[in-house]
Amino acid sequence: MIDIHRIVPILFLCLFFSCQTSAQKKEIFKITKSDQQWRNQLTDRQYTVLRKSGTEQAFSSPLNKIYSQGIYSCVACDTPLFEGKHKFDSGSGWPSFDREIKGNVAFSIDYNIGMARKEEHCATCGGHLGHVFNDGPRKTTGKRHCINGVALKFTPLKNEY
Ligand SMILES: [Zn+2]
Repeated sequence: MIDIHRIVPILFLCLFFSCQTSAQKKEIFKITKSDQQWRNQLTDRQYTVLRKSGTEQAFSSPLNKIYSQGIYSCVACDTPLFEGKHKFDSGSGWPSFDREIKGNVAFSIDYNIGMARKEEHCATCGGHLGHVFNDGPRKTTGKRHCINGVALKFTPLKNEY
């Protein structure tokens, strides 16, 4: 017969290791530079937004009120990211587009403000651009790509009439 009083209590420790989801998976970018190289290449404002996921002050970008035809490229690596014809006035104070140039923009989920937001970044260099929201123009995509103007370089279409 087993003397249960002699059984040494055993403490079971259940450790749950929560792994980051696939959204946090390390992406490989065609253009990778050291932090110091990015600091040297970019202005302070560009660096804060692109490399530190910062947000520029609303209504601060000269691109906010531009609605000409043309291409918006990544200011860090020149990859075309958005087209002028897809830009709209969201009233938010940040350049807003209803769609990206497919394949050139990549997405993740961030929780920087305590809630899940769809983050977007340059697929070539990984530079942070902004976020996507679902309150865009209903007539087109319904999406609002809310982009930091400091991350973009605008090239107007030539010979526009
Ligand atoms: Zn880029």
